[in-house]
Amino acid sequence: MTGDLSKMKMYIGGEWVEPASGEYFETVDPFTAKPWALVPRGNSADADRAIRAADRAFREGPWRSMHASERGRLIHRLGSLIEEHADALAEIEVRDNGRLLAEMRHQIRYIPKWYYYYAGLADKIEGVVHPCDKPALSYSRPEPLGVCVGIVPWNAPLLLFSLKAAPALAAGNTIVMKPAEHTSATALKLMELVELAGFPPGVINVVTGFGKEIGEPLVTHPLTRHLGFTGSTATGAHLYSLAARDVKRVSLELGGKSPNIVFDDADLDNAVRGVVGGIFGATGQTCIAGSRLLVQRRIHDQFVEKLSAFSGAARVGDPRKAETQIGPIANAMQYDRVLGYIDIARQEGASLVLGGKRPRLTECEDGFFIEPTIFTGVKNDMRIAREEVFGPVLSTIVFDDQEEAVAIANDSEFGLAAGVWTSDMKRALRMSEQLDAGSVWINTYRDISYTTPFGGYKKSGLGRENGVEGIREYLQTKAVWLSTAKEVENPFVIG
Ligand code: NAD
Repeated sequence: MTGDLSKMKMYIGGEWVEPASGEYFETVDPFTAKPWALVPRGNSADADRAIRAADRAFREGPWRSMHASERGRLIHRLGSLIEEHADALAEIEVRDNGRLLAEMRHQIRYIPKWYYYYAGLADKIEGVVHPCDKPALSYSRPEPLGVCVGIVPWNAPLLLFSLKAAPALAAGNTIVMKPAEHTSATALKLMELVELAGFPPGVINVVTGFGKEIGEPLVTHPLTRHLGFTGSTATGAHLYSLAARDVKRVSLELGGKSPNIVFDDADLDNAVRGVVGGIFGATGQTCIAGSRLLVQRRIHDQFVEKLSAFSGAARVGDPRKAETQIGPIANAMQYDRVLGYIDIARQEGASLVLGGKRPRLTECEDGFFIEPTIFTGVKNDMRIAREEVFGPVLSTIVFDDQEEAVAIANDSEFGLAAGVWTSDMKRALRMSEQLDAGSVWINTYRDISYTTPFGGYKKSGLGRENGVEGIREYLQTKAVWLSTAKEVENPFVIG
């Protein structure tokens, strides 16, 4: 079987290259559970080659001397090419991670906005003249960092790639990106568009493979100046410690256990839609999944009934079919992990009110499917309420008043996002101040935009992506002093 599969190549220094090891691994379609292509198994030699190519492009190539407006023009052109090829990219993404085709089309058609936004920002990065107390003109220049490494997971491969690539490039850096081993195809496909756009060689590089084998060598390489990582908290913390050895800058977008809080005065139909979208969208495989549902006691039973009816009617199946509402889990390892958490929740004494197993699907016997699953009677100290499942599993916790809701919501090592459903706007605003979360959504959930900073509190991350704040992650400040004194003071005469 493997012999019939086509082999992909990595993109380093403007060339399509084979891995130094000569080894490849299979990438699997989660709907059929069958391999569909072979991905280069990169190692430290490939990491070194890519980082050196990016460093050369940063120091010696035309990228450095190019005016920021011209850099912006190239980034904008890449955005236009993604827009033109969005549907083809969406099909590849679905083949690799099993997300709904309709959802991925929508997502990939939205990705160009990141490139347009940061292309526009490229020539608006301004320095500051300081009101200096010395006889000198002192001013600051924001400058790029150099080689930036981006490591991203499999749940939204091209989106998460772009959230890092667009601002890093607009700031004048060069980049080496490593997609997740399960979903390398769209990042490599994108390199065809990078070539078409006309980027100088080495400015954008993509290497593939496993975390330990190529990810770590990218992070520890002496020429790497910044790590932008999206993935699990455990991996992020480990890479943070590696980067610290060389005092490298890092931005981390990590895990979550986000509370979605429904008060008894909320519009319950809207809240049901928001809660369902928050946990069953992308089959629960989003960092911002609203995986803890906090419901006020008075409406608990009524809300859970509505929620179960709505979720239970969702059509699970082939992600390519327009009528499908919930697709498979993205890979075999994650599938086993989610089923494992369902067992844990049962053992902990939570009550299963919906799902909890593989659905019967006539159209596919082997895909990694799990029914939308809802537990009630969850206590916030259970593992199912504390650990990230990253799947379609909702834990329902009851609360009595606002104070208790905030206490439960904040009793978590994560702090990525929170949702508040209420018709009382004073309460909503008070909640937004009290919740420990990088994003608070009021009467909505799971919105993100290229304009609005995104990132985590506590163990959910470090730094921000998106908006003007997003580009600052990729800049450093240089202070320049130009003397206006007639003569240099005698250093041996003090005062
Ligand atoms: P993961 O940490 O296992 O892997 C993420 C990436 O890191 C992959 O490319 C992987 O190859 C690489 N990697 C793994 N070990 C490595 C190592 N030792 N050195 C270098 N690279 C290494 O995460 P995952 O399970 O693939 O992704 C799911 C996680 O990502 C969840 O925890 C989720 O919450 C998080 N996530 C966060 C955000 C966010 O913006 N906060 C967005 C999406 C996903």
